[in-house]
Amino acid sequence: MYNIRSVCSTAAVLLGLAPFTDAPVMDEVVSLLPGNGANPPAERLLMYNPDAVAWWIFEKYRDLLAPALSMDPLVLKMESVMPSVTPVCFASMYSGLMPADHGIRSYTKPVLTVKTLFDAMIEAGLKPAVCSTGTDSVSMIFRNRDMDYFIFDTPEEVNAKAEELIRADRHHLIVAYNGNYDGSMHRVGPEGEDALAALSANASAWKRLCGAAEEAWAGKRWASAFATDHGCHPLPDGRGSHGEDRPEDMNVVHMWRSGR
Ligand SMILES: [Zn+2]
Repeated sequence: MYNIRSVCSTAAVLLGLAPFTDAPVMDEVVSLLPGNGANPPAERLLMYNPDAVAWWIFEKYRDLLAPALSMDPLVLKMESVMPSVTPVCFASMYSGLMPADHGIRSYTKPVLTVKTLFDAMIEAGLKPAVCSTGTDSVSMIFRNRDMDYFIFDTPEEVNAKAEELIRADRHHLIVAYNGNYDGSMHRVGPEGEDALAALSANASAWKRLCGAAEEAWAGKRWASAFATDHGCHPLPDGRGSHGEDRPEDMNVVHMWRSGR
C-alpha cells in the first residue's frame, strides 16, 4: 500500500518534473497517461481533494460514489500519516514528506516552509492554483507562494471556481478542496444522513470537474485524482472523529484517471 506522500512524487512525474523526495512514484498512475506514460508529460493536472473519505466508507458506500466510479478510475487503497488530521496529511500529500520531516505534527496550520509540489512547479515555470474554503488547512499551509489562491465560504463556490479555471485553461495544476464530508461526519457520524449526502456530493463534484476537463482540455494530455487526506471512525455518542492510528482513520481511498 502506498502512503499518501507518494501523491507528491507521482504528480511531479506526471507533470514532467523530477521527484524531490524518496516517496515512491506510483507507476500504475503514471501509466494511465496514453502512450508511453509521462513521456511526454501531462499538460494539465486536476487534484480534487475531498476531506476524510475513509477506505471503509468507500467499500461500504460504493453506490454513493457511483458518479466517480462511472469514470472507471484506478482505485487505490492508500495509507495516511499520523496524527491523521487534515493539516498534517495534506502537508505530506503535497510535500512528499512524513510529518517529522515537513514539520506539521499536530492540528496546527502554519505555512509550510519545506519544498512542495507547488514550489517545484513554480521553479519549472508551471502555474498552480488552489481553490479552498475559509481557514481550512489547504487554504492556510501552502500560502506565500507565487501562485493563485481562490478562497471561498462554501464547497459549491470552490467547485464553481475550479470549473471556471479548468475552462479558462490558464493553470497547469488546479487543486479543489471540499471539506463537506468531514464537517458533516464530525457532527452526525461517518454514516449519518448528512455525511452520506456530502459523500455523494463529493463524487458528483469530481465527475463534474472531470467533465469540464474533458471539454476544455480536449486534445491535451491530462490526469485527475480524487485524493483524500485521512479516514474517520464513529464515536459512541453518534458523532465522528479521526486522528488515531487505526485502520478506519489511516486507510483511505484515492482514485485516478487520465484524459482520453
Ligand atoms: Zn481532513
